[in-house]
Amino acid sequence: MSMIREFQFLLDSVSNIVFLTGAGISTNSGLPDFRGDDGFWKTNKPIFFKDFVTSSSKRRDSWKRNLALHHKLSEIKPNDGHHFVKRVLDQKEGIVITQNIDALHEKSGILKEKIIEIHGNATKANCIECGEIANIKLFHAAVENNEVFPSCLKCGGLVKVATISFGQSLNMKDFDKAKELVQNTELMIVLGSSLQVQPVASLINFLGASADLVIVNKDPTPFDTLASVVLHEDICNVVNQLQVS
Ligand SMILES: [Zn+2]
Repeated sequence: MSMIREFQFLLDSVSNIVFLTGAGISTNSGLPDFRGDDGFWKTNKPIFFKDFVTSSSKRRDSWKRNLALHHKLSEIKPNDGHHFVKRVLDQKEGIVITQNIDALHEKSGILKEKIIEIHGNATKANCIECGEIANIKLFHAAVENNEVFPSCLKCGGLVKVATISFGQSLNMKDFDKAKELVQNTELMIVLGSSLQVQPVASLINFLGASADLVIVNKDPTPFDTLASVVLHEDICNVVNQLQVS
């Protein structure tokens, strides 16, 4: 059986699917892989969480970068890869766990309860002390007008873009939920992740013995030998050959 037919067979035969998506699903929307050769982190030093907390100039740098990213993100749209995930999750039980901070799964219209953004979301802001959501537009305006950043309205704490910074711990509630969903799923479909960033990659180890794994990624991953289907191809090209019923 060809890999596509095997993928189609698995898709048709299960009722519960966990998707794991990474930067590769968003490149077709025009968002470069931050970790790639031309990626953002090759030219911009990461701002570590502790520096954000202790330095007001790093905070301003961080918000400046978020404003630039905001302009980029407001221009881009979900592509066939995101629409495929939505169509499948409209039909079946399951969830999408994403490493992406670009909010494109949310923009594709999937129910919010079916998305776990394990590295957070660059289109939102929250308080690092109490988690209260803040209006991100106020911070963009403060960058543009060179004004002081507002504090959390609830506790007075520092507000940061709602992504997980370098040196910042993941939201363990989200991670534990992701782990449990992986343990109980029949099929896991990886789209556009090289499965090299921990602890997200370790989620694969929680798959049950009878569960199947499908990996679609342009480059090989450390988990390819465990997968029933491996396609080192363009995601849109693959999903456009599949029927979602
Ligand atoms: Zn707060």
